Amino acid sequence: MTEVKDLIIIGSGPAGYTAGLYAGRAMLNPTLFAGFASGGQLMLTSDIENFPGYPEGIAGPEMMLELRAQATRFGCDIIDKNVDSVDISERPFKINVGKEVHLAKSLIITTGAEAIWLDAINENIHKGRGISTCATCDGAFFRDKEVIVIGGGDSAMEEATFLTRFCSKVTIVHRREGLRSSQIMTNRARENPKIAWKLNFSIKEWLGSEGNFEGALLVNTGTGVEEKLACDGAFIAIGHKPMTSFLGSQLETDESGYLLWKENTMTSVPGVFAGGDVVDTRYRQAITAASMGCMAAIDVEKWLEDNRH
Ligand SMILES: Cc1cc2nc3c(=O)[nH]c(=O)nc-3n(C[C@H](O)[C@H](O)[C@H](O)COP(=O)(O)OP(=O)(O)OC[C@H]3O[C@@H](n4cnc5c(N)ncnc54)[C@H](O)[C@@H]3O)c2cc1C
Repeated sequence: MTEVKDLIIIGSGPAGYTAGLYAGRAMLNPTLFAGFASGGQLMLTSDIENFPGYPEGIAGPEMMLELRAQATRFGCDIIDKNVDSVDISERPFKINVGKEVHLAKSLIITTGAEAIWLDAINENIHKGRGISTCATCDGAFFRDKEVIVIGGGDSAMEEATFLTRFCSKVTIVHRREGLRSSQIMTNRARENPKIAWKLNFSIKEWLGSEGNFEGALLVNTGTGVEEKLACDGAFIAIGHKPMTSFLGSQLETDESGYLLWKENTMTSVPGVFAGGDVVDTRYRQAITAASMGCMAAIDVEKWLEDNRH
């Protein structure tokens, strides 16, 4: 008969590994499905300078290997496979991984979110080296430089305004005349003397060779006329997509698909907990994801204690 685990964790970013570390130390013997792209979003970044404990900074992939090793040390069993679907309509929960079915009394979902990219020509060669999707993370690398921000919503306005602390000039590129951002965020950006505007333009192509970002080829969405815009970096701020498709519609989400907490870190289904970017529309940082992984593991421990049959 298939063993029923106390806890299965799905997702291997800072939230998942921290949940694994805490649950392992609490003797819950967790299994963590890391996914094919184990390590999460930080596997794509070079320097992390804002995670406490690394005064000189650390490369993203190196930090993720350390978090993984720390979780493993305390008995978290890490499997590099994707979870295809789950059935959480009754307990024990069923976790479907290829042809295998795993059973668990509780679940922590830490599958993160993906920034939405533009997929303009040459985007892949500049990802993380010239083009970023996180101003809080990468803004400080562009001190006294000229950058562009792509997007017309609140996040684009917020990222652009934030970037003016470091950058000498920030140009907002948006494919329409009208912005989707709230009035207050729009006004803040409009009143900022370091912010310039390129409305009715989209990005056709990124310029420069690998490791040498030079700017963008813009196209006027009304006339089709192309023009080059030289800059040192670009921030894409057109939204994020939480990684929840494997759940179907079994858990309550907000209108963008982010999982909702109902009681502490527990979701709308008792026994199913979540943490990190899959619930977070605001902070989206490694340290906040790790904190939510810790919180979810502590909540699971207490919930299991109260729900032993
Ligand atoms: C380019 C870039 C640079 C960044 N730089 C910084 C920085 O300097 N400092 C900072 O604090 N933050 C930074 N961030 C933000 C930070 O990476 C995220 O906030 C953090 O990684 C979120 O952690 P998480 O554990 O919630 O999810 P993620 O890191 O997104 O990890 C989720 C994991 O779950 C896996 N997964 C998804 N679906 C499944 C499934 N069905 N089955 C199994 N596994 C699955 C994914 O493959 C992934 O490995 C950066 C982000 C990016 C994109």
